[in-house]
Amino acid sequence: MSNLMNTYLQLPVTFARGEGVWLWDETGKRYLDALAGVAVCGLGHCHPKLVAALCEQAGTLIHTSNLYHIGRQEQLASRLAALSGMDNAFFCNSGAEANEAAIKLARLYGHGRNIDLPTIIVMEKSFHGRTMATLTASGNRKVQAGFEPLLTGFARVPYNDLEAVTQVAVHNKNVVAILVEPYQGEGGVNVPQASYLQGLRHLCDQNGWLLMLDEVQCGIGRSGKWFAFQHSGIMPDVITLAKGLGSGVPIGACLAKGTAAEVFKPGNHASTFGGNPLVCAAALTTLQVIEEEDLLRNAMEVGDFMRSMFKAQLAGLPDVRQIRGQGLMIGIELSKPCGELVKEALKRGLLINVTSDKVVRLLPPLVMQRSEAEQVVDTLSALVKEFLMA
Ligand code: PMP
Repeated sequence: MSNLMNTYLQLPVTFARGEGVWLWDETGKRYLDALAGVAVCGLGHCHPKLVAALCEQAGTLIHTSNLYHIGRQEQLASRLAALSGMDNAFFCNSGAEANEAAIKLARLYGHGRNIDLPTIIVMEKSFHGRTMATLTASGNRKVQAGFEPLLTGFARVPYNDLEAVTQVAVHNKNVVAILVEPYQGEGGVNVPQASYLQGLRHLCDQNGWLLMLDEVQCGIGRSGKWFAFQHSGIMPDVITLAKGLGSGVPIGACLAKGTAAEVFKPGNHASTFGGNPLVCAAALTTLQVIEEEDLLRNAMEVGDFMRSMFKAQLAGLPDVRQIRGQGLMIGIELSKPCGELVKEALKRGLLINVTSDKVVRLLPPLVMQRSEAEQVVDTLSALVKEFLMA
């Protein structure tokens, strides 16, 4: 019997080592990682510059109270502000915590405008985390079931539907913000329609709402730009980040701009470990390596290459509904549930994921090269064809 709480449906492999896009299990078998720890390892596994930066920082200072070690955090906040156009940052330890900060920020913002019951518009099929506020915000009954009572203060609309948001604005005067993933990850790699984010920005401007983007999965280079919203030309009020920011070292961030950046005051919010010197070193090195190795361009090019290869190999099949995504965030939607593909892929030395029951999701490291990408596409396409014919 395991002493671990029974929260994960474990897969029959334990990895012992990683390097770049490769992982090795305890028996020495090698796997190609097209999942990157679910979007965490943009630099690939154990990038030497990341390892060196962590070792150096670990031997210098790992942690003190947030009242004393603001220096490293300021460096990181300033770098993120320059890359995103935001004004400031709050650091925490995960995506859920970054979204908690955004939700609390929106509620404070609402109370500041004399709205007693601030309401945040959220999307169907969204995923924002597993804490009570973030699972309430998520549009997925599976993560909510059994945890009732859920929180109040959320209004849900379909993703990619501007009219539904407009209707909420007409009927609900308590709305203070919209929280949306620019590209939905867990919900099936759903891509925003042209002008969707611009439309949301416009509605926020008209109504005095904050536009809050959850870039936990699609941010930090995953989409081929630093941030996914940068494909749309708009500027949000709040951005949440985690996953790829620390390359596997737990860090989350809530960035804010303008009025939103003025909302929190000392004493409003805190996190013991949030943004300690060790995780800031990991994040600063991650951003530095993405730039030095031109990984945004690589993500864009290799992602386009993979989608076009998948289209060439699979698009004609009647049970392949759609091949979509942006950069190295790739979804292949089939017409039937395909969870069993994950174990089959593992047997063939490939890590993939299935989300929303019918969507094969790939989130390869941003360092993936064309030759490795070709291997991923060939192995997976063969597997999908066998699965659909069985
Ligand atoms: N937001 C999004 C868009 C996510 O994909 C995830 C994780 N899958 C989260 C939030 C939650 O992040 P964490 O597991 O770090 O709390």
